[in-house]
Amino acid sequence: MTPEDFRRNGHAVIDWLADYMADVEKHPITPDIRPGAIRDRLPVRAPESPEPFGAILADLDDIVMPGLVHWQAPGWFAYFPANGSGAGILGDLVSTGLGQQGMLWATSPACTEIETAVLDWLVELLGVPAGWRTDGPGGGVIQMSASDSTHTALVVARHRIGASADPADLVAYASQQAHSSVEKGARVAGYRHLRLIDVDATYAMDPDALEAAVAADIADGLTPAFVCSTVGTTGTTAVDPVGAIAGIARQHGMWHHVDAAYAGTAMILPEFRHHQEGLELVDSYVFNPHKWMFTNFDCSVFWVADRRPLLDTLSITPPYLRNKATDTADVIDYRNWHVPLGRRFRALKLWFVVRSYGAEGIRHHVRRHIEMAQRLTGRVEADRRLELVAPTTFGLVSFRHVAGDAATDAVVAAINGSGRFHVTPSRLGERTFIRVAIGSTTTEQRHTDALWELIDLSS
Ligand code: PLP
Repeated sequence: MTPEDFRRNGHAVIDWLADYMADVEKHPITPDIRPGAIRDRLPVRAPESPEPFGAILADLDDIVMPGLVHWQAPGWFAYFPANGSGAGILGDLVSTGLGQQGMLWATSPACTEIETAVLDWLVELLGVPAGWRTDGPGGGVIQMSASDSTHTALVVARHRIGASADPADLVAYASQQAHSSVEKGARVAGYRHLRLIDVDATYAMDPDALEAAVAADIADGLTPAFVCSTVGTTGTTAVDPVGAIAGIARQHGMWHHVDAAYAGTAMILPEFRHHQEGLELVDSYVFNPHKWMFTNFDCSVFWVADRRPLLDTLSITPPYLRNKATDTADVIDYRNWHVPLGRRFRALKLWFVVRSYGAEGIRHHVRRHIEMAQRLTGRVEADRRLELVAPTTFGLVSFRHVAGDAATDAVVAAINGSGRFHVTPSRLGERTFIRVAIGSTTTEQRHTDALWELIDLSS
């Protein structure tokens, strides 16, 4: 493809995407297709001869579109949002177009320094400790996912303990409501012991139960190494008491990681920051701009309060990566801040988003989502057929039908069967409940009003 062909085809692709964005509401959110239906449309072998770009573009409509789930639709209330924006898409496009590989400062100074600057901006915007800025002892790095960030924290915690304990004796702790990425990360990092600690009536970790579990493990000759607090659990957005857990972590020399993958974005609103009191005592923190901060997947921010243990754990310098800038120690080589060597210029899309929304634009839209969630919560509370299963703290409303699971399932079936809205049910104990996660870029009050009408009709 010559640059001129690229220009022509690129315009056609942008037009196609702009039409998609304008019409996203018109598609049924989930496709009505059987497994294998898309695969069956594709030839068994790769084409031997080049195909015209127009044919590839035509297949976006013909083959790809029928197999899409429309995550960016305004009626998307499932899982947590993975919201995006025009600015995020264009930033990602430029990143791909530039083909930077920012493993070292020397391999892309712009990739490195824009990432450093944008993450330092976010320290202030989200009200996390100033020491996490790169000009303090800490610093941030963009990873692919919260799972990667949590895995990294588990690896650092293990490494930091070093020879002072048998790796087989290390114990990691998280609440029963923690995301499965903690368990997966612990498994990958080689922890043999993971304790899922009891929660209280709000589904937040009970610090007394944590303390008791730690004491029992120490009595058994094990070594507490890592604890994860969650600010905004996946099930119900419960908030673990970060400060109390930090006290226990400090007392026993554990690495304390905070998983704010979803709710971290809400901290751009000063009135929400009390949910993470105690952050100045934690060791690491993850939040995903790719969930709720209008930054297209993938973009996960991992901060450490002190970068030395991270760098001690992950820095390995073979001769082929040595260069003058690294030797001066005046530059950041982000390859030492996470597991992969190679890295995309992800900061570009975050930079585009923060600049084109401005902090006030992001605050405005996040507040709007939370207000819609509060309004829906009020409607659920006022309806005797329904009950909340957890408080609405951020943009997630968790509720069920009082008549039991069959009635709750019927509401889910009506919502998802409409094609206009999508929710994911979950379970707490023996009971099913409905999660309505409001956070799509395109969602407006009229969409949550229409969702309510459907809930009302089907309850
Ligand atoms: N932590 C929490 C609290 C989550 O809700 C999720 C996903 O929803 C994750 C971690 C995993 O995020 P990722 O897909 O970025 O690994």
